[in-house]
Amino acid sequence: MPMTDLASASWTDVQQHLASGRTLAVLPFGALEQHGPHLPLSTDTIQAAGVAERIARHYEALLLPAVPYGETWDNGGFPGTISLAASTVTAICRDIGLSAQSFGVTTLVVVNGDYGNRAPVHAAARELSIGGFDTLVLDYPGLAEIGDTVKETAWAAPGLCHADEIETSMVLALEPRLVHPDRFVAAYPELPADFGRRPIRFDTLSPSGVFGDPRPATAAKGESIIAYVVERSIEEIDGHLAAISA
Ligand SMILES: [Zn+2]
Repeated sequence: MPMTDLASASWTDVQQHLASGRTLAVLPFGALEQHGPHLPLSTDTIQAAGVAERIARHYEALLLPAVPYGETWDNGGFPGTISLAASTVTAICRDIGLSAQSFGVTTLVVVNGDYGNRAPVHAAARELSIGGFDTLVLDYPGLAEIGDTVKETAWAAPGLCHADEIETSMVLALEPRLVHPDRFVAAYPELPADFGRRPIRFDTLSPSGVFGDPRPATAAKGESIIAYVVERSIEEIDGHLAAISA
């Protein structure tokens, strides 16, 4: 039994899939957000969809279509960025979960690809859990570890990667035709002392929208990063499934 991709499946395909006892669904949650001049606005969506698809294949799960918008106020100063309110992200995630629950999904794994989605997606998971629906949110477990191993360039700030070597490598591995190497430019903006502790627009810090150095990015590095994040995600899902069945 392979995974079932709901974007291309019929309802009877889904019925048959669930009848085999496989009731796990995977939801990639992305964003439409600036990622420098060299990466597409859909970078976070492409990455979340790529990681989610591999997880769905591993579990022979239902794969839901990626949500292509997220909460990305930080990047609102750049044309093309479309940001949802945090409450909208929570509502979308909750409503998808409720629908999936209604036809027999028992566990929803959300693969979150955007920093701004973290709090609202976790809020949705809490609402769903209160309603008795099992939801697990993954924010790319292991990304910092594998980044430290694979990256040749410095982080723009601890844990901050945006349009840098990591993200550029991941898109080179998943959708190379959307990357513009001729536009690679490094940027290490000076961050205020209270960065991360108050709302601040990224365009006031980095005019290019880049935080880091995309120049040494390669598809092979991207593949290593994705493979490691998928491996760590599977560990977390296995641990979760064992915990709820104990
Ligand atoms: Zn991103």
